Amino acid sequence: MRTEVAVVGGGPAGLIAARELASKGVQVKVFEEHPEIGTPNHCAGILSVEGLKRIGVELDLKFLRHEINGGTAFAPDGTGIRITGSRTRAYIVDRAIFDRHLAETARDAGAEIERNHRILDFIYEDGRVAGIRGDLDVEASMVIDAEGASGVLARKAGLPRPGGGVLAGINANVTDAQLEPGMVEVWFGEGLADGLFAWAVPAGEDEARCGLATGKGDALELLRGFIKNRFGLTEFGEPARWPVLTGGPVDKTHGDGLLLVGDVAGHTKPTTGGGVILGGMCAMMAAETAIQALEEEDYSAGFLGRYDERWREALGGEFSSMLGMRRFLNSLPDPRMNRIFASVKSAGLEATLETFIDEGDMDLQSGVLRKALTHPGMLRVMTSSLGRLALGELRGLFNL
Ligand SMILES: Cc1cc2nc3c(=O)[nH]c(=O)nc-3n(C[C@H](O)[C@H](O)[C@H](O)COP(=O)(O)OP(=O)(O)OC[C@H]3O[C@@H](n4cnc5c(N)ncnc54)[C@H](O)[C@@H]3O)c2cc1C
Repeated sequence: MRTEVAVVGGGPAGLIAARELASKGVQVKVFEEHPEIGTPNHCAGILSVEGLKRIGVELDLKFLRHEINGGTAFAPDGTGIRITGSRTRAYIVDRAIFDRHLAETARDAGAEIERNHRILDFIYEDGRVAGIRGDLDVEASMVIDAEGASGVLARKAGLPRPGGGVLAGINANVTDAQLEPGMVEVWFGEGLADGLFAWAVPAGEDEARCGLATGKGDALELLRGFIKNRFGLTEFGEPARWPVLTGGPVDKTHGDGLLLVGDVAGHTKPTTGGGVILGGMCAMMAAETAIQALEEEDYSAGFLGRYDERWREALGGEFSSMLGMRRFLNSLPDPRMNRIFASVKSAGLEATLETFIDEGDMDLQSGVLRKALTHPGMLRVMTSSLGRLALGELRGLFNL
């Protein structure tokens, strides 16, 4: 069997790349190991309104579950800061149905999606990737690797796999769990979710999707404790576990005949671990480079390096700002985090934060982070709760 482009993995990144390629008339086949696209579903399903547009997806009631206009962040000691926006900022989507919708769009554009095919390796010809090998061999002019966080094939091809900041993620649905409509919750705490946070988002009437990602401890036990403390409940649906990536992009996302997209490239937001939007945006850039390579019949690493250059130019600054903020947050012990929350509240800065978040971008966060680090009131709070030295280091990350 032969195709122009073979895509490994039928998650959002692979399907978006396939849609873009097929819509430009490229022959593309996607290979997904599972019998069904979208399952198992590990995701909390929070996608920003702007983000959906950026990845070329129109909102569809099939996958939309809730509209979100705000949220409450809780410090480790339980102090809450509630932010409500003036408009819908994000959607909660059913990721299984969302992924199937992406598959339909890719198929409508002309892509072929083959399920139940686990790819075990790439085919190499003169040292370059020239196809994929599984229960069937498929030759291809080039391969897009969208295998997700595991990075097994990328490593076999000598490319780096996502390294630091790989957390144990877990999600489960909880019935009889009431949340304020339109609001999400995030809970910080080293003993709860070291390296990120726990979350509770609306999942249906009287149902919440609760999860967390942590670099320490048993994620299931931590989730059990979180659900008990938050809702007083001990029962919950089947938990789904999968790595959450907060370490930023890998050093190299291309090889001879090969492009990496999505989680395998580390294209997630280090501040939240969310990867559908930035992964999808980079997948669109990968498709553009692949089309140029097909036109030029040049699949060398030298040519495909354009993809690396492209996403770094467009999003490199965003990834590094968010990574800087993630490292800073990870360095804060619980008492300091508590102090920041308490100081924001006592200084009456909740409305200021609300404006930042209302005007800010959920996916390209460097703007809102810079705003917070230059606002006089926020600076006073941070100086008193962090000290000048730590604040100076943080501002230094943003060249302030
Ligand atoms: C607990 C949790 C909550 C999250 N919440 C959010 C959120 O709210 N918002 C958000 O934007 N992101 C969230 N994310 C991150 C998001 O799920 C990922 O960033 C996104 O799914 C990455 O898309 P992808 O296509 O790169 O990889 P994946 O979605 O992982 O898809 C990869 C696909 O490739 C298949 N595959 C792997 N290896 C092979 C092989 N050898 N052969 C064939 N097929 C293969 C896999 O089965 C899978 O279907 C969350 C992640 C976790 C773990």
